[in-house]
Amino acid sequence: MTTEVLGTCHHDCPDSCGWVATVDGEGDQRVVVKLRGNKDHPFSVGELCPKVNRFLDRVYSPDRILTPLRRVGPKGSGEFEPVSWEDALSLTAENLHRVIDTHGAEAIVPWGSAGTQGLLQQSSLDQRLFARMGTSRQIGSLCGETAGWGMTATHGNAHGANPTDVEHAELVVLWGTNTRLTNRHLWPFVERARERGATIVVIDPMRTMTAESADRFIQPMPGTDVALMLAMMHVAIRDDHVDHDYVERYTEGFDELAAHVADWTPQRAADACGIDVETVEWLATTWAGTRRSFLRSLIGPEHHDDGAMFFRTLSCLPLLNGSWREVGGGFARSCGAWFDVAIDFGAFARPNLTNGAPRRGLNMNHLGATLTDPDIGAHALIVWNGNPLVTVPNAEAIRAGLLRDDLFTVVSEQFMTDTARYADVIFPACTELEQLDVMPAWGHLYLGWNNAAIDPLGESVPNTELWRRIAGAMGYTEPELFTSDLELIDEALRDTVDRETLERDGFIRLDLPDPLLPYAEGGFGFESGKAQFASPNLEAQGLPRLPTFTPPPPLDPRYPLALTTPKVHARFLNSSYSQLPKHGPAEGGPWVELHPDDAAARNIADGDEVTVHNEAGALVLTARIADRMRPGLAAVPFGWWSQHHDGEGTANSLTSAADTDWGGGVAYGDTRVEVSAGRR
Ligand code: SF4
Repeated sequence: MTTEVLGTCHHDCPDSCGWVATVDGEGDQRVVVKLRGNKDHPFSVGELCPKVNRFLDRVYSPDRILTPLRRVGPKGSGEFEPVSWEDALSLTAENLHRVIDTHGAEAIVPWGSAGTQGLLQQSSLDQRLFARMGTSRQIGSLCGETAGWGMTATHGNAHGANPTDVEHAELVVLWGTNTRLTNRHLWPFVERARERGATIVVIDPMRTMTAESADRFIQPMPGTDVALMLAMMHVAIRDDHVDHDYVERYTEGFDELAAHVADWTPQRAADACGIDVETVEWLATTWAGTRRSFLRSLIGPEHHDDGAMFFRTLSCLPLLNGSWREVGGGFARSCGAWFDVAIDFGAFARPNLTNGAPRRGLNMNHLGATLTDPDIGAHALIVWNGNPLVTVPNAEAIRAGLLRDDLFTVVSEQFMTDTARYADVIFPACTELEQLDVMPAWGHLYLGWNNAAIDPLGESVPNTELWRRIAGAMGYTEPELFTSDLELIDEALRDTVDRETLERDGFIRLDLPDPLLPYAEGGFGFESGKAQFASPNLEAQGLPRLPTFTPPPPLDPRYPLALTTPKVHARFLNSSYSQLPKHGPAEGGPWVELHPDDAAARNIADGDEVTVHNEAGALVLTARIADRMRPGLAAVPFGWWSQHHDGEGTANSLTSAADTDWGGGVAYGDTRVEVSAGRR
């Protein structure tokens, strides 16, 4: 018997594509024989991507972890033996109780990321389990929150335009976002705008595939974009492109802003950004004079010391020229904040389980420091939905922590990742075809449903089931630790969602106006309902009251190149897929990419073996010479595992874990390196 089962892609990607799994067989003999895009899905319209087109390679890979494993060799050796669930849970509970009794429950560090997104499997029952244990709390965010908090400083909330309204724009500015690669299903909407006469501008330090498709490409030095935005505001005011009625009715602090940007001339911005003044003038006058100007950014620019300020400042632009009044105007970032109309994101929290005891917060980006600082005193680590040894900065400190004999590490995984190799116990995790979930999106306004197309392979379980089993093994009995998946969904879905329609179609549009026009008549998140050019909240935190440019950290003469670790692979997503035979080899990496001038200055030719190094680590890589980079920049695309390198490191062995200005993010993009010919 053949059936078709609707689902939604779970990856850390804005597109949250709808899919259809074709399933042969019945009961526990069911096998997925085909996975394709759901043609009815309004955003992804039947197309997946080069990674997920081969998702069945991943699901049915012979390398899947399908039983619990216990470490039998040295940490990091990858030597494990299969054990029963009962033994793995006993070992886990015994060690977690030991840590709690010896060091206190906050010595347990939960670390979960977005490798599997979804209402249930990303974070639900884990919140209750860790509250019951009294562990440390995970705070901060590798991606997204800094941008959201930057926007919130201006808007009072993180709501932006509907990305698909870009098709109505006359000017599209894709700022620090490689849409064609990392948000590929939005690109047809951008192209529709162009067919109607829109100009497409890309601003990025690297000439990406999206930049290649733009009408105009602007290439500032990384970390200098705020200077460009200040000049755009200067020109809007200088040339009186300001919608004074909008500014008067719906904003606060305009006079302060006008005085503040008075000396941000195009020439000053050009000098700060390393671009010519004509380009700044053109961008500023074109944007300011176009009410249907659509600004689009996503994640990349938040990974600098001024990451929140980037989004705070960008949010100020459409307040000036009245573009929020237009369909096809305004600024679109993550749509995640809109999903609170459909989902009660606080529904899973059970602070009562801690009996009122405070729990310290540990920033997930500081995992290296968390595991190696004796004052923090971490003695157990529980990892799910992530491979921090590849995805988190300052990775060599993480490795040093994972090597500690007095750290008990539990990992839930599908594959033997770099991080899993250091675990004491590994629990086998399901793929998305084996588990139920509801999928909020961050690139469009459709809530997705994901049916389990098949039973879990081997002894793998969804994360929710893992948390129930650990709770049972710990001897906990509170009923809310054992809530079923469907009950969890019912607890979180709001009345605005017709669950029958969601299950039947696989998606449902959020109950929001169409067109969205979120701020056409004000309605910002502050008590006044007005947006803030001048922010008393930031000032009270010791941060700049007005949008402010802070030059990137000065170049260290020992490490004169700015490192970027971009996503450039069509067949990768973060650290997922690079280990699979039809994905990694097809991308031909890893490598470091340099501008020809920087390569020549170091006597490096295309294809040479080089060492990329700084105080955090060193990587031996193949050099690629390409003029798509700005001089002064080295790109080491991330996503490759240790096994792909000569030695143990990966791109994040080099990166800085410094904090962003606010928002709890990480300034990967302010890392400095040197590239030397040969092996050091
Ligand atoms: S990774 Fe992104 S583009 Fe690919 S199928 Fe999933 S949601 Fe769609």
